[in-house]
Amino acid sequence: MLPQDNTRDNLRMPAAVIHCPNCGAELRCASRGAGTGPGGKPGCPYDGLAYASLRAGHDALYFGAWRGIDASPMEVRRAYHRIGRHLAAIGQALTGQDLPAAERDLARAVEAHQAADPSEESPDSLRFMDNALSFAHRVIDDLLHERGLPPHQPMDFSEWYDRVDVPFRDEW
Ligand SMILES: [Zn+2]
Repeated sequence: MLPQDNTRDNLRMPAAVIHCPNCGAELRCASRGAGTGPGGKPGCPYDGLAYASLRAGHDALYFGAWRGIDASPMEVRRAYHRIGRHLAAIGQALTGQDLPAAERDLARAVEAHQAADPSEESPDSLRFMDNALSFAHRVIDDLLHERGLPPHQPMDFSEWYDRVDVPFRDEW
């Protein structure tokens, strides 16, 4: 009879990813710093903040694997489509608001996103995607500013993400 020792394997299972029902943020149960709220549910760092879902959507991209030097073409393509959805969500938040500067930034983000063609797999597409994300961040900050709130600081939420070691290319 073979020994039935699965305990170690079970411990090695990847942390379960739970999506916050309020903002859609990906919450990893085993994440360091992930507080456990009432009822044993993982706390969400974005809940209660203005534009929580836009912040969470931005940071998931900002700390995404696609920005790492070892990113696979599939991770890049997935991020490309995710940026498209992120920009659409920002566009919805802007609807009905009279914020010309924010609309200009969103137009630049969309333009950069369109210029990024990951099927070409050129280094330029990563740069354009990075630009699109930077402009998206600007729009979120415009929305926050309109409400008299301070800018969004992704690093305040870095402990919730796996890829804090991503070599950021903000200098582009
Ligand atoms: Zn949340």
